[in-house]
Amino acid sequence: MQKSLESGGIHLSVVVPVYNEEENISLLYEKIRAACDPMGIRYEILVVDDGSSDKTYEILASIHQKDPLLKAIRFRRNFGQTAAMAAGFDHAGGRVIITMDGDLQNDPADIPLMLSKLDEGYDLVCGWRKDRKDKFITRRVPSMAANRLISWITGVKLHDNGCSLKAYRAGLIKKLGLYAEMHRFIPAMASMAGAQITEVVVRHHARKFGKSKYGLSRVWKVFLDFFVIKTIVGFSTRPALWFGFLAAPFVLLSAVFLVITMTHYLDPGQFDQFPIVFPTVSVLLVYLSAHLISMGLLCEVILKTGSYDQKELLGAGFRVDNGINLKSGNQ
Ligand code: UDP
Ligand code: MG
Repeated sequence: MQKSLESGGIHLSVVVPVYNEEENISLLYEKIRAACDPMGIRYEILVVDDGSSDKTYEILASIHQKDPLLKAIRFRRNFGQTAAMAAGFDHAGGRVIITMDGDLQNDPADIPLMLSKLDEGYDLVCGWRKDRKDKFITRRVPSMAANRLISWITGVKLHDNGCSLKAYRAGLIKKLGLYAEMHRFIPAMASMAGAQITEVVVRHHARKFGKSKYGLSRVWKVFLDFFVIKTIVGFSTRPALWFGFLAAPFVLLSAVFLVITMTHYLDPGQFDQFPIVFPTVSVLLVYLSAHLISMGLLCEVILKTGSYDQKELLGAGFRVDNGINLKSGNQ
């Protein structure tokens, strides 16, 4: 699909990633229309088909035939929810973007609530599935733990980072380069850009049709992503410093081993029985520290020469298109 979808004057883009959701699509479309039409704003529904193998795309195409307000982007294969969301952000013409799951677990009826909260001057409004209708052990427990960890690591105090129902100012979300499975860390990354973030309690329903696309392996992936996000949020301006911190305990330990070695060398009586392990470990630790420090330096080089535009994200570039007020009819 071409990049610029007739975008003039569109306020809201509802972006929905879908993967094998044939039973949900039509109902979802009707519910989004029922929620958005009464608001009297110009909007579009952008559904990204993430390489479905069922009839999802055919259904989307037939809805588009009747109602061009719904637009569909189709991936050739399954690239994952984050990639699908990122494609939606790229093509969205609205000044405000709302994302939600395509399986009807999020409720389109919450869209007006999200918009009015954004109107209060926030840049990002996160849904909070307070009464979450998912399995307790495999879903809600790991999610609670993950949210605590994210809050602790990133300093962004939210109850439900993983809720897909979120509203963003387009100027913000289009600048956050999403990759891998990073959509769960959008609030953390947005906070880095100085975004005003809040949360609202939203409805949540059990899945009626189709299957969840994730298993327990997600827990491990999310856990690993914490380290990535901590590095990005805390140290992307000075990676050499981050790696320097990592290297510090090893430098200290190697110094301790070196001192032990030296004291034994200085004592000729003990020289013969001196275990070789001390100097060896000391040398290995020096090597490890040097390795970490040079990784940091390498990152600095990549940062200086790469395409990641930090100034735009962190600096004044963001929060310029802030004055949108959907209620005031400023369209
Ligand atoms: N999804 C997607 N690509 C994927 C996996 C999921 O586009 O590779 C979509 C899926 O169709 C749904 C949303 O992302 O609209 C959330 O997925 P799911 O409901 O399986 O996640 P859960 O609710 O179990 O966390
Ligand atoms: Mg779901």
